Amino acid sequence: MTIQPVADAATTSAVVADPDRKRLARTTSTLESAGFSVASTPDEGELLRLLARGHPSVLIVHMAFSRAVPAGTAAADASGSITGAAPQEEEPGIPVLFLVDEDHDLSPDVLEMLSVSDYVRTSARADELIHRVQNLIRRGQRRSEVRGNSERLRQRLRGVSAAIRATNDPRNMSEQFVQGFGETFDADHVWFTTFDDERVPLITAQWNRYGLAQLPPRLGAHEPAARRAANRFWTESALLTVDDHLHYRPSPEDGELLDWMEAMGARASAVVPVGEGEAAFGILWIVNAHEPRLWTVAETALIRHVAGNLAYGLIQGHLINAQQLVLKRLHQLDQAKTDFLAMVNHELRTPLTSITAYLDMIHDGEGGPVPPGIEEMLTVIEQNSDRLRGLIEDMLSFARHDNSDDSRKAPVNIGHLLRMVTAVLRPMSTARDIHITLDHAGEDLVVGANEAQLERVFTNLVSNAIKFTPRGGHVSITAQKCGSEDQAAELRVEVADDGIGIPEHDIPQVFQRFFRASNASAAAVPGTGLGLAIVHDIITRHNGSIAVASALGRGTTFSVRLPLDSNRAAPGRTEPFQEAVAPGVIR
Ligand code: ADP
Repeated sequence: MTIQPVADAATTSAVVADPDRKRLARTTSTLESAGFSVASTPDEGELLRLLARGHPSVLIVHMAFSRAVPAGTAAADASGSITGAAPQEEEPGIPVLFLVDEDHDLSPDVLEMLSVSDYVRTSARADELIHRVQNLIRRGQRRSEVRGNSERLRQRLRGVSAAIRATNDPRNMSEQFVQGFGETFDADHVWFTTFDDERVPLITAQWNRYGLAQLPPRLGAHEPAARRAANRFWTESALLTVDDHLHYRPSPEDGELLDWMEAMGARASAVVPVGEGEAAFGILWIVNAHEPRLWTVAETALIRHVAGNLAYGLIQGHLINAQQLVLKRLHQLDQAKTDFLAMVNHELRTPLTSITAYLDMIHDGEGGPVPPGIEEMLTVIEQNSDRLRGLIEDMLSFARHDNSDDSRKAPVNIGHLLRMVTAVLRPMSTARDIHITLDHAGEDLVVGANEAQLERVFTNLVSNAIKFTPRGGHVSITAQKCGSEDQAAELRVEVADDGIGIPEHDIPQVFQRFFRASNASAAAVPGTGLGLAIVHDIITRHNGSIAVASALGRGTTFSVRLPLDSNRAAPGRTEPFQEAVAPGVIR
């Protein structure tokens, strides 16, 4: 008998353990003549030490030493198949050949329990022993090859996933994806498209082996069929692999799509749905144009894993892009608003200033005496100019506040401010026969505020009270300190009238821009609906609050609260106003 050395004799080594010294010597010499380097022992304890020294290509052990074979020594006889999204690595084992005495019968269950790869009778001929050993080693080598291939595939696809994660641009992601798959799977074409779906942008990307013609950019009339197929695969958590289009009989549902693929020159294909949640939003197609191709379970598992990464990246990228687009649009709108307000400022304010200047000149008699009938007309012009100015001021006020910083805050004496406001509005209240009372707690009411803005707040509130109160009515303004000793001191200003009141259902909306309650239109009171929104905005910026209480037909009270600035003294320019407008009744 001649024993053929194993292909890679230089690296093949065996450990043999057998209590029967004669048999041990025979087995050892059989293996050595087949080219193995052999370490042998008749001693069970010695076996472990031999194994600890290195990793032999095969372990041949007599059944008497079965307990000495460490668990997990034997290489699992798996096909290398990998399922699931994140395949696990498997430690390579040593193939174990078990020498079984003639009179023993071993069932496969026992073999598995003993953690061996194969067994042979002690009576087996030398060539049979070598044949079995060589087989075992080849099987082991194939396993390591498959394992190595899977590992390389995993490595490369990790690279593809990293490239996808490195960008937020869906197009770039898709291009990395098709190129990565093309190179990893040695494909001829890789083609990816998204469908019309709000979760992702509409994208097509393809990679083609050098020298091969491109595939069409889109599916055209076949898109519905592709979408249906993708959704079906998605629901079934599956993908479709076609090893050879020439011998593949597609199901009726996939017929249209696969006919198209074959017509595009595909010989072998993998068709993978790409999606998230309930439905797919894209489809990936890996094509081999010339040869049939078998897709391993490891490959398809990894393809699905990376396609999942792409889906996630596309959704994220799409959201980020949409957000950036909204920000850009907001920026543009803000610029448009600024431009518009600059235009309003110039185009409306300038002629209005000229109109009121001429009105003043006519009143002052600079154009000569005014006939009595014309005087009334001039008054109407004056009132409407004032309304127009109010409207422009309100709009500009918003623009200023939107961009303003409130850093120009200074101590403001509220008593002084309220007297000034009532003095300015006196002509209006007198004209409407409205009685105004001002009651404030003295000069110590000081808030840190932007004085011009606070003046606007109280001018709006008091002028509203006058506007929405019928002739002969009453408006009262009170300012007082509130808050207990342990709380920070607060200022409360109330502007109350006994006017027409606000319908209950309108009250929650009065601080919204452009809102005008039904009472205002019913009573034909002019206005823009901006005043209270401005008031609310200013008070909020001053860390204060405003509330309203109203009863239809009985009157309205606005209460403003602001933090008091008790540490700082108000500027001392209150005297002239104290004299001009005495606290108390103003008519
Ligand atoms: P405008 O006074 O220009 O209409 P505002 O924003 O100042 O706009 O007020 C919004 C709405 O709130 C008014 O149209 C009116 O319906 C209601 N309102 C405000 N102040 C009073 C008040 N003192 N009495 C009754 N209704 C009021």
